[in-house]
Amino acid sequence: MSASSDAYDEVLARAKAHALEWLGSLDSRPVGPRRTADELLAQFAQPLPEHPTDPAAVVDELAELIEPGLMAMGSGRFFGWVIGGTLPAALGADWLVSTWDQNAAMRLATPGTAACEEAAAAWSLDLLGLPADSDVGFTTGATMANFVGLAAARQALLSERGWDVRSRGLAGGPAVRVFVGAERHDSVDLALRYLGLPAPVAVDVDEQGRIRPDALAAAMDLLADAALDPSVTDGSNAADVFTIVCLQAGNLHSGAFDPMRESIAVAHARGAWVHVDGAFGLWAAVSEQFAEAVDGLDLADSWATDGHKTLNVPYDCGLAIVRNREAVRAAMGVHASYLLNDDSGPGDPFEKVGEFSRRARGVPVWAALKSLGRAGTIEMVERMAQRARELADGIRLIEGAEVLNDVVFTQVSISFGSDDRTRRVTELLLADGVTWMSGSKWHGRVILRISVSNYSTDEADVERAVDAVRRAVAAADVLVG
Ligand SMILES: *Cc1c(COP(=O)(O)O)cnc(C)c1O
Repeated sequence: MSASSDAYDEVLARAKAHALEWLGSLDSRPVGPRRTADELLAQFAQPLPEHPTDPAAVVDELAELIEPGLMAMGSGRFFGWVIGGTLPAALGADWLVSTWDQNAAMRLATPGTAACEEAAAAWSLDLLGLPADSDVGFTTGATMANFVGLAAARQALLSERGWDVRSRGLAGGPAVRVFVGAERHDSVDLALRYLGLPAPVAVDVDEQGRIRPDALAAAMDLLADAALDPSVTDGSNAADVFTIVCLQAGNLHSGAFDPMRESIAVAHARGAWVHVDGAFGLWAAVSEQFAEAVDGLDLADSWATDGHKTLNVPYDCGLAIVRNREAVRAAMGVHASYLLNDDSGPGDPFEKVGEFSRRARGVPVWAALKSLGRAGTIEMVERMAQRARELADGIRLIEGAEVLNDVVFTQVSISFGSDDRTRRVTELLLADGVTWMSGSKWHGRVILRISVSNYSTDEADVERAVDAVRRAVAAADVLVG
């Protein structure tokens, strides 16, 4: 059977109809899902059919079964976790990526997607103000982008010490210390774990969750002194210790940015590699508004960010950016007889990420940036921050509500007094369905957290969301009263 376009006609027509129905429902449907995974599993887990089913009928059934279990993450009133929406151009591009079905590993095999991704990478570096000759790998997300950045760090620092981690592994080699702000994202710890690196040393942060450069210096010096101690006999003497510092651009709860220039100076003076986790916050660098917050960002050695958060391309997409190309390619790349390695300069896509085979997830980045242009990208990021301020200002006026953070970017953390009251408000708010915000805990307090990460969130969404919070607070007090 040939894969003629006829075979796809009906199934794609059905997929488009379901897609438009879904997108059209976003503004009116309750944001949360109406069924649990267990309930839905009972529907999906039919006996495996013995015989084929018509593809268009499969797509219809899939859309029908799954619908009650979908979270309206693309709604302008979805503020949960940190989750972006989808720009139209990015969605269209993403459909084509699936249709073309390129294994985007090698330049010589799939030059179209390679070139498109290289252009997307160059545009991203330009917008973010990062070194233009950095390598950019398109990962599944910031977790894997952290992994790639830290793998490059491990490679480079060990190689400087004459230790080839590729042949020798880590055992018996130089010891490593990793320093992070106490409020780093857990994915940094995960990435270290994947790499066989030890759990990081948590450095004190200020009231907004920013690492304190003086505390970073003190922690690094303390451990360097300990390593010089002759009583340390585990081989971790100072010459053999290599250090990595992970900074954060965009704190999950406050949106705050670690002081980059000062922290990077502290780290570099002590020979450390500096990696920046900027899953959502790195994109602040596109706007002059945040110039002070990200000052010095470009001095780091590697950066991780997401496409699927602030940039609003569909899941999944992250960007692993590494200044030292040799390090990342040595860590992630491979040469083999069956591969078509292209060593002409830009490097093969698979040498910059953890996967051999992967979809061309950088293509929607190109489409997103092409459709927005520089001005549109800046405007989108500034608008998200503006909406966050509006939400904070609206909620602040509600009886007993307290905004706990300085709203410097897209994140707002709120308490409604006692932990119990905040918990009740959160439950009632999510049951109401007009908006979705995340319950969380920050500085020992139960909070309600907002992340504005959708390009489409407008003033009407803000108003409806604030009204919903007000209703939830009133209902919570009635329950108690
Ligand atoms: C979301 C997030 C991550 C993890 O990113 P994924 O895309 O989920 O892998 C890491 N760091 C921060 C600050 C985040 O907000």
